[in-house]
Amino acid sequence: MSETPKSLIRRTPWPPSASRPVVTPLQPSVVYASPDPDTLDSQYEGVNPGYTYAREGHPNADVLAQKIDMLEGAEGGIVTGSGMAAVTAALLGVLKAGDHVLGGDQLYGRSLRLLSQDLPRLGISASMADPTDAAGFAAAIRPETRMILLEVVSNPTLRVADIAGIAQIARERGVLLAIDNTFTTPRGFRPFEHGADIVIHSVTKILAGHSDATLGYVAAQDPELRRMIYDFAVTTGMTASPFDCWLAERGLYSFELRYDRAEENAALLADHLAGLPGVTRVLYPTQRDHPDHNRAVSLLGERGGHMVSFEIAGGRAAANALTRAAPAIAFAPTLGDIGTTLSHPASSSHRALGVEAREALGISEGFFRVSVGVEDIALLKAEFAAAIAASQQL
Ligand SMILES: *Cc1c(COP(=O)(O)O)cnc(C)c1O
Repeated sequence: MSETPKSLIRRTPWPPSASRPVVTPLQPSVVYASPDPDTLDSQYEGVNPGYTYAREGHPNADVLAQKIDMLEGAEGGIVTGSGMAAVTAALLGVLKAGDHVLGGDQLYGRSLRLLSQDLPRLGISASMADPTDAAGFAAAIRPETRMILLEVVSNPTLRVADIAGIAQIARERGVLLAIDNTFTTPRGFRPFEHGADIVIHSVTKILAGHSDATLGYVAAQDPELRRMIYDFAVTTGMTASPFDCWLAERGLYSFELRYDRAEENAALLADHLAGLPGVTRVLYPTQRDHPDHNRAVSLLGERGGHMVSFEIAGGRAAANALTRAAPAIAFAPTLGDIGTTLSHPASSSHRALGVEAREALGISEGFFRVSVGVEDIALLKAEFAAAIAASQQL
């Protein structure tokens, strides 16, 4: 009897173990082998569970989706390769040529671009309206309006949308309400409890929380919508990398701790900034002088999230001096990192708007947005005080 030849090409069986790993395994496999065609059939028919091909779904995405589902009170949420993939899937998976979508006028920059540049090319019209004014927003609804896309708290002026008013109008007019909940997170606000049909996240931000994974999430209440969005996402290849999902799921273990600490820091930092010489304006949703203070408190409770915006005197020169004087605070156009990051909308997210449109929103050259991290608040206060003092000594 001849021995079976050995081969490096054959997979070595996984070593048996009576114990199991405590950490979620990372499963990078693109394909899954079934025992026979009958079993594969039963998998495709949904009779038997089981993965087939990673673009269609894989365990690391599902484990992550289940955790975000739990936070949002959702079912069957879909993880995508980026937040923008989630926004795109929610819109293009549902809308068709001839439909109109109405967006908030201060949506995330790429979402605005998708609405104003890309959808019209596909025969879907879009317009924007101010979501802090429900009556004005209602007036912008057209007979062919199929969907409303909102963010709860706007970037970077932290205006709070009239979600209650707009959700009621959407219901009355039979228009789907999609909410990008990235800024507020389900810790601050749960859109499905306020009339949303679709919830979207850039998981890249504070949910994953460590600036090392680019991911999105989209969930719908109605199983039919969910199916349409899932099929569109899979067909157009919006699939997330297992490794990114694994990193994000690990990030989620500490999400609630990080969010609570960052939010507490943000409220304290907002008060601190307001007392510093050279600071001309501070924006924090639950602060008394914020234009949407009452709505922020009724929608978000007493605490207003982890983002603070402020303005200093002295224009661009002072802004340059500020970031240079605070090298430990990453000057980077993102948010939600475990550490504090600083962004300057006039030179990044809002550069394409032009000076006049920026001025109308109150975004001057001295305007900064802070994504507050979980550092010791004493350190943050000292770093900001020093950087702002340096910015004013020109
Ligand atoms: C960052 C962000 C997005 C896009 O997410 P990516 O993961 O960067 O693609 C969408 N909406 C909001 C509110 C965001 O902050």
